[in-house]
Amino acid sequence: MLTADCVQAVLPVPEGVDAYVVAANSREICGPFSGISLGTVDRVNDRVFSHTEHGCRELITIGRQVHVAAVRLDNSEVFLVGSEDVVDLDAEAGDAWMSQSFSRLVPHAIAMRHIFRDRCWHPVQNYACVTVDDPLLCPNYGFLNYECLLRLMEKHHFSTTIAFIPHNFRRSSPRVTKLFREHSDRLSICFHGNDHTEAEFASRDPSRLTAMIRTAENRISAHGEITSVPCDRVMIFPQGRFSIEAMAALRSHNFDAAVNSNAQPQGQPARLKLRELVQPAVLCFSGFPLFLRRTGIFTQDADIAFRLFFGVPVLICEHHDAFRRPDDLIDAVGRINRLAPDINWCSAGTAVQRSVLHRVDVQGTLCVKSFSGTVQLTNQSRSQQLVQLEWAFPGFNGQSGVLEHNAHTEDVRRVDPAEARIFVVLPPGATNSFSIRCPQTSHEPASLSLRHNVRAFIRRRLSELRDNHISKHPLLLEMATAMLRRPPHNPTTVQPFQ
Ligand SMILES: [Zn+2]
Repeated sequence: MLTADCVQAVLPVPEGVDAYVVAANSREICGPFSGISLGTVDRVNDRVFSHTEHGCRELITIGRQVHVAAVRLDNSEVFLVGSEDVVDLDAEAGDAWMSQSFSRLVPHAIAMRHIFRDRCWHPVQNYACVTVDDPLLCPNYGFLNYECLLRLMEKHHFSTTIAFIPHNFRRSSPRVTKLFREHSDRLSICFHGNDHTEAEFASRDPSRLTAMIRTAENRISAHGEITSVPCDRVMIFPQGRFSIEAMAALRSHNFDAAVNSNAQPQGQPARLKLRELVQPAVLCFSGFPLFLRRTGIFTQDADIAFRLFFGVPVLICEHHDAFRRPDDLIDAVGRINRLAPDINWCSAGTAVQRSVLHRVDVQGTLCVKSFSGTVQLTNQSRSQQLVQLEWAFPGFNGQSGVLEHNAHTEDVRRVDPAEARIFVVLPPGATNSFSIRCPQTSHEPASLSLRHNVRAFIRRRLSELRDNHISKHPLLLEMATAMLRRPPHNPTTVQPFQ
């Protein structure tokens, strides 16, 4: 009745098939998922439909059977989803959440977004960036040569942010910093710890974290004065290790966001909910945004499509050795450009600032939700636009921060500090930035102990020795790696690698 007999039966998933295939001609409904296949099917949850030849548009199939379909009847369209259950967004997200949740999440989200269109939160544009950890800004660092990287980026169309260790602030080469200045659309830097000592941002000591962040800020500020290369206020954690306290410290120092390869604070097991992963950034750690990245080889079609659909920027994580044979990286870049030909390659800072969600409320006002401390908004239309901008940060209120903006006073209609919300008129063609800023409680100079500084110095030089020399000789690298795997005899021994 519902489908005018177009669909006749609901059946179990056929044997011998294991993947979902999203129709290539379904982009206006399935968005970035169109044309890809992914799996594994959930035989307990999934169902397929038997249907007549005509009137049923196949959107997602399993084997040759339709799993998700759209049936058009006169002035209405009916979506059929062969799923017993709908995902619980408050359930814990396991490692394989993408494949385990696909049929209980994505078809429903696709149908809802198609039905409600601008009324539900959705990304308007997508952003991507390759991040490379550790290199100095000198012509060659390990297998990375900046001039070769620039040629690669221009040929394959991508951009790179160097996760720059503030410790190295006096060591940048004028030849390389000139490249950064002249190609700021392709090359940029962001913070990568302070000294890159062992798990420095896994510290849970607020005063130590504050000292590290202030030292890093001072060093980056000096680097900017020497080189005129700006630095995004994004922190990529060394070794991927961080604490919840580090997230709070970055928030109180007005960083825009953190970027990491995992969402597990060290020694503080976290039960990450699915809802955290279907929005641009994870927000459950001290209310400070954590954007996730993956290595190129793991940036496969399904991962890219999930990110594009939910507005998560596509951030790739690499080290200098990716450039020994950059095929894996170039393949990942190619996959991104194929799935999203209009993607914006930019710096990590721009990616987090612009990865916002839009919706139109019942009054017709454009609502924008930001996931970064600072957000950039552009009005690309020819008429002025009223925008309700809000920050998704939990725990923000009028006492914990202030809203700043560079809009003209007459363009600001209302500010709701308690709700982290501002109503503003954007003139045609205008780009403005807006920030949430925490008041700085103290401006005491940062200080780290002499012992810390000596250890940091030794560690950095040893790491560079590994990247520049040992890594180019497989036998030496193997020996060095084996030595490093031995348990230390003395717990105070400096552990120089990674
Ligand atoms: Zn690193």
